[in-house]
Amino acid sequence: MFKAVLLDISGVLAEDGEALPGAVEAVARLQASGMALRFLTNTSRRTSAAVGEELQRLGFPVEPAQVFTAPGAIRRYLERHRLFPYLLIHEKLEPEFADLPRGEPNAVVLGDAEQRLDYAHLDEAFRLLLEGAPLLAVGTNRYFRQAGTLHLDAGPFVRALEYAAGVEARVLGKPAGDFFRAVLEEAGVAPGEALMVGDDVECDVAAAMAVGLQACLVRSGKYRPGDEAQAPEARCEASLADLVEALLATR
Ligand SMILES: [Mg+2]
Repeated sequence: MFKAVLLDISGVLAEDGEALPGAVEAVARLQASGMALRFLTNTSRRTSAAVGEELQRLGFPVEPAQVFTAPGAIRRYLERHRLFPYLLIHEKLEPEFADLPRGEPNAVVLGDAEQRLDYAHLDEAFRLLLEGAPLLAVGTNRYFRQAGTLHLDAGPFVRALEYAAGVEARVLGKPAGDFFRAVLEEAGVAPGEALMVGDDVECDVAAAMAVGLQACLVRSGKYRPGDEAQAPEARCEASLADLVEALLATR
């Protein structure tokens, strides 16, 4: 049995502001089983605190300290390296970085900034990269799903800036191995003792397996038929509720 279960949020627990069927009960059962739970998301349209509050509002038994977001990881990186960010982020995410020391920007932070990902902002970021600023990215997710349709995520914009400036981004959310390792370290669990559950076969499933976790792809959220082929070793279940049912039945 696993000592920890890492749960992706969007497409696994909830979508479009509503809990997925059976997900709240499934998380409560996991919580009661004694396994450590951690909630992971690359979302860059909300602060870590807002993500935790939203989960609680939907009925999930979540403590703020159990939530790990990619922007939170970027914030810790900026603090550790004493960098001043040029923030190409969604306005709702600004509070996450509000109390950092101010200075002449020497790092580019790129998230899913939605309307701000326009020519003027990308061009300014490009100039800073040419001057040697590191490019810090929430993730390389190609797309996310909202209201039943797929939308451009931050990944394509990360690639555009990398291509233009001839640099490589430092990705601090999923699929970066360091993101998973930081979560495991905080939980005090070795990779082989943990299970990652996600609907993104690349950034959740294959990425977690690459650092030694076991992983389960759920066929909810952004899952598309055939995704399994990209991680043939992974477990695959229709939903989190189905996975939890199977996990707890075999205890
Ligand atoms: Mg997801």
